[in-house]
Amino acid sequence: MSVFASMAAPGHEQVCHYFDADTGLRAIVAVHSTARGPGVGGVRIRAYDDDEAALADVLRLSEAMSYKAACAGLHCGGAKAVVMAPFPADRTAGMHALARAVESLGGRYVATEDMGMSESDIALLNEVTRHAVGRSLAAGGSGDPSPYTADGVIAGMRAALRAAGREPAFDGLRVAVQGAGSVGLAVIERLLAAGASVVASDIAAEPCERASAAGSTIVDNEAILREPVDILAPCGVGGVLNVDTIPSLACPIVAGAANNQLATDADGRRLAERGIVYAPDFVINAGGLINVSDELDPDGYSVERVRFRVAGIESTLNTIFAEAAAHGETPAATALRIARERIAAGR
Ligand code: NAD
Repeated sequence: MSVFASMAAPGHEQVCHYFDADTGLRAIVAVHSTARGPGVGGVRIRAYDDDEAALADVLRLSEAMSYKAACAGLHCGGAKAVVMAPFPADRTAGMHALARAVESLGGRYVATEDMGMSESDIALLNEVTRHAVGRSLAAGGSGDPSPYTADGVIAGMRAALRAAGREPAFDGLRVAVQGAGSVGLAVIERLLAAGASVVASDIAAEPCERASAAGSTIVDNEAILREPVDILAPCGVGGVLNVDTIPSLACPIVAGAANNQLATDADGRRLAERGIVYAPDFVINAGGLINVSDELDPDGYSVERVRFRVAGIESTLNTIFAEAAAHGETPAATALRIARERIAAGR
């Protein structure tokens, strides 16, 4: 597919390449949709094999942000930036160059954190542009998004339990959490507090130690996908639900925080054929976006509003599961359809 065709098919509004001669910073910003508000999305700093890979990543990620925001009912659109690593050695100068790129879009793109970025980088961006969110609590921002993402996952698990014909309660359940990082650990803590028993895994030792100290049982990171549990929660990396893993899943529900859990669209259908309830990742993990985008509210950030909206993930998923059943669709297909309808209406 040609470069321009790859942007036109999912309907990107604008894709910009930036090069800053002083620092050597190279970045691509993709604005997928501003139909419902400014395109909010993280800056990902990553070493790409080539420019095509960077472009493909930013196009895919920006489109997904539009759908996540629309399903969450937020008045923002979808966008994303990728910076081709290595990032300029002078971090401040590099962030200022990136901020000038963001500023040049006049608010159509609002930058926030993704891989390779931190809260202090957002502060550097804010020295040049106000179109960057994810500020620290001390700076009047929304702080760490992980607890809100975890709250949303728990709310979404309740909806998934209901869709599976179960009580929306965790007491006595057995849950598997793959990936015990910021969100995974917070999910584990909430499940344990609600009376569930938890098996957890990670590819790194430290997160396993923290998960164990919290009260979960550590198991092998591959074998966890075959654990007989009530809920499997992928909270590490994407692509874990695929043609190889789905046949041996031993759970009635998959509901976790990781982005892009389905390796391909066909995997949503594979889960449905096995009778497994799957909570679409971009719906259940919207808590972080709900939190960070609240900084854009004209009245300023409100933790009460964020908590209210994050709790709403449960009713959003109740609706998606009910519509999916009524239309004979997978929940992922229903969520996409709803998002696209909302974006089209916004236009
Ligand atoms: P994190 O970096 O804090 O933790 C990720 C954890 O996953 C790490 O402990 C890492 O060792 C582990 N991991 C990496 N590869 C793994 C693998 N193959 N198998 C098992 N574990 C693996 O990241 P996080 O903020 O906790 O995010 C976790 C997931 O949730 C990511 O997919 C992220 O994109 C998604 N997500 C996070 C947020 C948020 O608010 N932080 C919001 C939405 C989605």
